[in-house]
Amino acid sequence: MELEGLKRGVNLLQQSGIQIAELVTDRHPQVLKYVRENMPTTKQSVDVWHVSKGLKKKLVKLAREKDCGELTSWNRSINNHLYWVAASTPNSDRQLMQEKWASLPNHIHNQHTHKGKAFPACIHPPLDGQRKKKWLKEGTKVSVKLLEILQSKQLLKDIGMLATGPQTAALESFHAVLNHFAPKLVAFSYDGMITCTTQYTK
Ligand SMILES: [Zn+2]
Repeated sequence: MELEGLKRGVNLLQQSGIQIAELVTDRHPQVLKYVRENMPTTKQSVDVWHVSKGLKKKLVKLAREKDCGELTSWNRSINNHLYWVAASTPNSDRQLMQEKWASLPNHIHNQHTHKGKAFPACIHPPLDGQRKKKWLKEGTKVSVKLLEILQSKQLLKDIGMLATGPQTAALESFHAVLNHFAPKLVAFSYDGMITCTTQYTK
């Protein structure tokens, strides 16, 4: 359904003579594949909130495991860092975004210089000893498992595609309104869907 919706939406815009310079979507694999293969001149980006949502779930789950509770104090910072990676890289430089992300595991272990050339050091001022948040120790269970999450191939791929400008939040709100009139629990035909929602979209 997501792919069919995308195709119809894109067709409608193209038939109206609109050239799509950038398309921001969620991480739906079929959608990503379709855009990659069929819209070569369109820049494809992934909405930050959708990446953050998946990441948050994994972090919360890990923080509940035995000996991993100290991760709780880092979860918000990790998600803030994700948004910062996108917001601080307006030219969408994939390498720079990935290196900014790769600096995070180091930072959490109190290491503030990094291997990459594009982002060789954290840009925060020196951190004093007054901090409440504890650094993680390398080799501990929470550290090892956190690194598995932060350095997963899939996540790194998503990081390189983060949307640095427009996001889908407004569209999500709009869909939430439509769901009120055409609930997802009910299977409507295409015409039924149009009937339920068109008066709110015109
Ligand atoms: Zn740092």
